[in-house]
Amino acid sequence: MRVLFATSEVAPLIKTGGLADVSAALPAALSGMGVDVRILLPGYPQVLKALPHLQAATNIPIQPGFPAARLLASSLPNGVPLLVIECAELYERGGGAYQDEHGLDWPDNALRFGLLSKIAALLSCADSPLDWKPNIVHCNDWQTGLTPAYLHFSDGAVPCVMTVHNLAFQGVFPPQIVTELGLPAECFQPDGVEFYGNLSFMKAGLYYADHITTVSPSYANEIQTDALGFGLQGLLAYRREALTGILNGIDTTEWNPATDPNLVHSYDATDISGKSANKRELQKHMGLHIDPDLPLFGLVGRFTPQKGVDLVLEIAPQLITLPAQLILLGNGDVEMQRTALELSHHYSGQISAYVGFDEALSHLIEAGADIFLMPSRFEPCGLSQMYSQRYGTPPVVHATGGLIDTVLDCNAASLEQGVASGFVFHSMNTSSLLATAQRAVMAYHDKKIWRTLQHNCMVKDFSWRQSATAYYDIYTQLIRR
Ligand code: ADP
Repeated sequence: MRVLFATSEVAPLIKTGGLADVSAALPAALSGMGVDVRILLPGYPQVLKALPHLQAATNIPIQPGFPAARLLASSLPNGVPLLVIECAELYERGGGAYQDEHGLDWPDNALRFGLLSKIAALLSCADSPLDWKPNIVHCNDWQTGLTPAYLHFSDGAVPCVMTVHNLAFQGVFPPQIVTELGLPAECFQPDGVEFYGNLSFMKAGLYYADHITTVSPSYANEIQTDALGFGLQGLLAYRREALTGILNGIDTTEWNPATDPNLVHSYDATDISGKSANKRELQKHMGLHIDPDLPLFGLVGRFTPQKGVDLVLEIAPQLITLPAQLILLGNGDVEMQRTALELSHHYSGQISAYVGFDEALSHLIEAGADIFLMPSRFEPCGLSQMYSQRYGTPPVVHATGGLIDTVLDCNAASLEQGVASGFVFHSMNTSSLLATAQRAVMAYHDKKIWRTLQHNCMVKDFSWRQSATAYYDIYTQLIRR
């Protein structure tokens, strides 16, 4: 089995969120199962710089509407082969993968990710410039959403899977882009790529893919509803026979408190004592009062309404009266960043915020915090709540998407059954969040309950094994068909 895994970000080369983690870990797990998988990725400066050993370039035949590009071969630190698209005009610039230094979307994103989509399709067709030809193309999110459409109108195309990591981002562009990107004009219709008068990359993927997956079973149901379908619920409900929710796994090598180089003391489920040294280090590093007994809440994530960061900022002054401490790491919404820094300043020693992206600090927070906060309004899967459980840091989560599928509320029954692993609240408002945080603090002060909870969390199997097998089964069915 040969799989081309097309993605717009992959850890550790370029990362804005969970997609990057999945794009590194799932191909590695598939590789471990004997699948010949190669990752296709744009050659952003961060990628070219991090990969000094790029090998022999292959010229890609000029694609109408796109600048010239070449393919460079390399591999990820985990050994998975990489195909990097070198196209200086579209990818080699400052800023990030999707936005400039000021947080504004690149104005030519349609072309940038149109090229990624186009090359993914090309490599899977008869006129590919490579000898290696996949028999499955796996697309991820809107940035590769046009691949299934290109494949649909190509000769000798192979089956493709489209994975939705977050339906909120859809890649919607004006209608004239359709022909500029070399798509046939006839596909611009409701039964095609058209979405309320515009071109939607995401819709194109959902409409033309042979199979759709999303990153948790609960989210697979939610995206078929008006509440969380972002206008695509009708199409998704229509395609439900070809839609599967497969829970993401995590990279259990990278996220392992027994070996994590970002921690000051390692620990594991059998001996968790080393966790307290990380709490002390975290308190020190973030300028909080050093206190081993105060429950320390941690939050890591994009500062957006999706993540419910606004609720956390609102309850922060009450949260610390429980009493407790709070650490926030994230970036995004400018107003939320400002509020987080103000709180940090005003309640110095009790609340501390770091605005920015800091991989090492994110690991230390997962390990050093006592309770992890993840009150997302919606959450396709979510990785951070799985990391936190693996690090013995029970999460407080809203009952949505992948959070429901990965966290079991702590109550008498779940404790009795040995499955309690966090705290779940159902109404998305500040009082429910605060009451649940309070419930977590009460549990924290009961040493016996807390040890049980931490242990339950740490022994859970979040590896990719099962999920990679589920993808493998889908690929197999598609190839047979
Ligand atoms: P999403 O993909 O919606 O952003 P996930 O929970 O699936 O959310 O994945 C987020 C990933 O990004 C996690 O690995 C998390 O640790 C990381 N992350 C998010 N924000 C930051 C940040 N500011 N600094 C470091 N890591 C971050």
